[in-house]
Amino acid sequence: MAECIFCKIARNEVPAKEVYRSDRIVAIEDLNPQAPVHLLVMPVEHRETLWEAIRSDGEDKLVAGLFETAARLGTERGGAQGFRLVVNTGPDGGQTVGHVHVHVLAGRAMAWPPG
Ligand code: AMP
Ligand code: ZN
Repeated sequence: MAECIFCKIARNEVPAKEVYRSDRIVAIEDLNPQAPVHLLVMPVEHRETLWEAIRSDGEDKLVAGLFETAARLGTERGGAQGFRLVVNTGPDGGQTVGHVHVHVLAGRAMAWPPG
């Protein structure tokens, strides 16, 4: 997946503001933040969509790890006021980067319904 921007970020080939890294998960600050806290939590290995990550999930419990990391970062940075996790999936879901990622949004009250 040489062309995938998030693969390049995960391999440190493209700079990003990294806030967390393990051997299988990376979290960065979003380049175009939609809230005071806007992070992206992604697998190091390429998975295009949430469904691809679910289907390839194994004993490493990658999907649970992504959500656990996202919830932890949301709690650390959103505090008692809370946070929002979003996984845009496919064109109608608003997914623009084909490497699954969990948005962590916090630091302001979120509107509902989303646009
Ligand atoms: P989505 O539309 O759900 O696929 O989310 C893609 C997100 O990635 C958007 O919020 C973009 O602002 C963000 N993004 C795109 N390229 C980069 C980059 N190089 N570094 C950090 N965030 C990025
Ligand atoms: Zn990728």
